[in-house]
Amino acid sequence: MVAVAEVVAAGEVHQEASEDIKMLCPKCQVAKLIARGVKGRDFTVEYCLKCKGVWFDHDELEEVIPAAIKELQVPGHARKNVERLCPKCEKALYEFDYPQTYVTIDMCKKCRGLWLDAGEFKEIRAVRNSLQMSGELKEHADVPGVRGALIRLVDSAIGSLPGSIRDLLE
Ligand SMILES: [Zn+2]
Ligand SMILES: [Zn+2]
Repeated sequence: MVAVAEVVAAGEVHQEASEDIKMLCPKCQVAKLIARGVKGRDFTVEYCLKCKGVWFDHDELEEVIPAAIKELQVPGHARKNVERLCPKCEKALYEFDYPQTYVTIDMCKKCRGLWLDAGEFKEIRAVRNSLQMSGELKEHADVPGVRGALIRLVDSAIGSLPGSIRDLLE
């Protein structure tokens, strides 16, 4: 009888643990991220109801923009931000600026997920549009290194993300 009780108890613990995957907002640290999927497509982002920031899982990005995401690594000059932890790995995120803007992107070195604060995606898009219109930035600028990889990543993301996710970001 004791053995049966132990087995049942162990099963319950396991079930609770698997259901309780906390994806805490890297910015708020208290609010749990909400998954938002796209109907008919295998794509999900996690966002925070409180601060409206958005987390992009690396595997999800690889589905929609495989070439661009492969190139992107945390750059050497990125600043370690101990106040922001990866919602998956719970390790400090690294922050760096999006080229030619004041927009900051946070990235996890381990799982390579990306975090954008509310409105940052919109700002990236606005700056890119104005640079393109003024001719300062060609549509497929051949910029080397991390800078180039990041430009191509966000450009591809803007073009490839499902409409309902773009609405969420803007
Ligand atoms: Zn938040
Ligand atoms: Zn991570």
